[in-house]
Amino acid sequence: MSDTRFAPSPTGYLHRGHAYSALFAAEAARTSGGRFILRIEDIDRSRCRPEYTDAIFEDLAWLGLQWEQPVRRQSEHMADYQAALAKLEGLGVLYKCVCTRADIKREIAAAGAAPHLAGDGGEPLYPGTCRKRPVSEVAKLVANGAAYALRLDLAAAVAIAGPLAWHDRTEGTQIARPELLGDAVLARKDVPTSYHLAVTVDDHLQGIGLVTRGQDLFGATHLHCLLQKLLGLPTPAYHHHKLLTDPDGQRLAKRAGSASLRDLRNAGMAARALRDDLGFS
Ligand code: GLU
Repeated sequence: MSDTRFAPSPTGYLHRGHAYSALFAAEAARTSGGRFILRIEDIDRSRCRPEYTDAIFEDLAWLGLQWEQPVRRQSEHMADYQAALAKLEGLGVLYKCVCTRADIKREIAAAGAAPHLAGDGGEPLYPGTCRKRPVSEVAKLVANGAAYALRLDLAAAVAIAGPLAWHDRTEGTQIARPELLGDAVLARKDVPTSYHLAVTVDDHLQGIGLVTRGQDLFGATHLHCLLQKLLGLPTPAYHHHKLLTDPDGQRLAKRAGSASLRDLRNAGMAARALRDDLGFS
């Protein structure tokens, strides 16, 4: 029996790719006799809007899905992420980073070599500037009002955690390579958590036994395994499912203006037809 979850960010209307992901998770829960959980990942205050959260409920209900109540909204649980950060702080695997994006770009350019890209989306890996600075120098900048993020000291974390692996339902046993993501941000300058930290904490607190999500997040799992180990949490099983593409092979995306579920509905499409089309009759 495995509980699963669908965890959208309310930054736009859901499209067919989200419908596939939600139906996939619900089906995986159903076939294993587990619960299907909906979680609203709304930590990014500048991009998330309450009307998109309402639209998520409406669109998923239209699709015929039912989920556990109450729905967890990450923005209401900062204390849980704070507690996880305190634990990591206690292990000595966090450091303050005052770098701006421009600083990081400059530092990478100055190093002269082609930057290594993070495994989860192609951002250049952080070159470790603030990890190498004297702590007193960073403290002074912070005292003078510099905004700071908290980053994971990857080498220190890996030294504590040792080798790690996860079971992937499609790919089999995977050796975790968190170095692909470098010194990831665990608390942002504007929000006292990050996607990676919040998702790791929540999947545990919500008892998720099988994390189903798109292949685009495969890279993130390397880091999530490391965070689970550091926080003393069990590693769930994972199933990274295919991503839907539009007719010219582009991945569906909110920002690329892919037709939303409400566009399809308003154009007269029946939920049953969409479910059939996505392979969930
Ligand atoms: N909130 C993430 C998104 O909308 C998904 C997180 C996850 O499934 O781990 O892309």
